[in-house]
Amino acid sequence: MRYVSTRGEAPVLGFNETLLAGLASDGGLYVPETWPNVPHGDASTSFAERAAEIMAPFVAGDVPHSVLLRLCNEAYSTFRDSRVAPLREVGKNRWLLELFHGPTLAFKDVALQFIGKVFDHVLQERGQRITVVGATSGDTGSAAIDGVKTCSNVEMVILYPKGRISEVQRRQMTTVAAPNVHAVSIDGTFDDCQDLVKAMFNDAVFRERHQLSAVNSINWARVMAQVVYYYTAIEQLHAVESSPVSFSVPTGNFGNVLSGWIARRLGANVGNLIVGSNTNDILTRFFETQTMTTASVVATLSPSMDIQVSSNFERLLFEMNSRDGRATARQMVDFRTRGTLTATPDQFGTWIRPMFRGHRCSDDATLEMISRTHRELGILVDPHTAVGLVATSACADPDEPVVTLATAHPAKFADAVERATGTRPSLPEHLADLLSRPERSAELPNDLAAVKRFVAGVSATR
Ligand SMILES: *Cc1c(COP(=O)(O)O)cnc(C)c1O
Repeated sequence: MRYVSTRGEAPVLGFNETLLAGLASDGGLYVPETWPNVPHGDASTSFAERAAEIMAPFVAGDVPHSVLLRLCNEAYSTFRDSRVAPLREVGKNRWLLELFHGPTLAFKDVALQFIGKVFDHVLQERGQRITVVGATSGDTGSAAIDGVKTCSNVEMVILYPKGRISEVQRRQMTTVAAPNVHAVSIDGTFDDCQDLVKAMFNDAVFRERHQLSAVNSINWARVMAQVVYYYTAIEQLHAVESSPVSFSVPTGNFGNVLSGWIARRLGANVGNLIVGSNTNDILTRFFETQTMTTASVVATLSPSMDIQVSSNFERLLFEMNSRDGRATARQMVDFRTRGTLTATPDQFGTWIRPMFRGHRCSDDATLEMISRTHRELGILVDPHTAVGLVATSACADPDEPVVTLATAHPAKFADAVERATGTRPSLPEHLADLLSRPERSAELPNDLAAVKRFVAGVSATR
């Protein structure tokens, strides 16, 4: 498979190069040159085997199938539930897809456990070392760190917004003892952290000198790995031949829901895609007004969605422009400079209205949903999952089968869950002593030069 940039100017690459590049050199995001057809499979196949089958066309020419299967088996053996992404019925036509059984308790493990394995494989094969630089609104950092902490060819620098992530999220990054892992708190928001990372990537000399690579959700391999559970959920519901299954996705960067769109594009029996936002509702406003307008970020109870620039939307925008990289680049540059992007009525009618629904959810509504789910079903859900559930009840018909993605374990956001229910969820056994482990973190200002100096220092240590 070959990959092209959404802005049309960067070189066309194979899978391995795309994996290592992260962001394309023209500032765009890599997408497959063509969308293959990926048929539904058998519900009795293991998650790892299905993952290898579904991802095979996307790594074709670069990773042999037997290797891919081994990497998937290794990646998904770290999950506490052998089904990896089990479904739980929560009402008539309603299910939760539990994506939080990985090592760091959030859905990002599904992609990042795989990425760690595939990075290790590709780098060893090429005899290459890289510095992974990423920004996190909380969950990406810990999931990325856990994914690559044993990769001997990777140094990792993760920027997180100081004081804007939960204690569990922070400790999952700062208590990892691996010498190749560097957690850095930045005096700013998640968008500031993401901008710092993008600026480093856009400096071609710096990027080349320090062999930078990204594991943010802009990395194609993450989007690809997330496609798998849309397929397996439909297969587990035995809904391959029946009415399409809609998915409700609590969304920040548009990464997870984009994977749902891709699953649909590849042939999975996906119905509507319901996008749940918190107060940071740029996507919901876009669905309402056809115009995307940035606003400032507000801290909420679902911090992993406290994002106002949904980077992965660019991949859908590329499709909305009939894969015209120039047009996409123009729109994105406009968006960056003027802060607004408007879809044409045609684009909106073809790409958005027929399948996307959006709903914004306040912190109060989030707490009320956590409380109600506990009261009525005896289930504790985390605030992000609750946003998804609120969006489901607001946007779905009663007879529409809907799977809401449960993106984090409740114990990861224990304060909010306790506030809503009076019950404090406990951490799974492997993290039981997290709050007493020693922390290690650097602190830097929201300043590009300072962050570059730090990254240069880290990449020089190897
Ligand atoms: C990252 C994250 C999200 C948002 O996912 P995107 O891919 O950025 O849309 C939602 N919930 C949780 C728990 C997360 O960690």
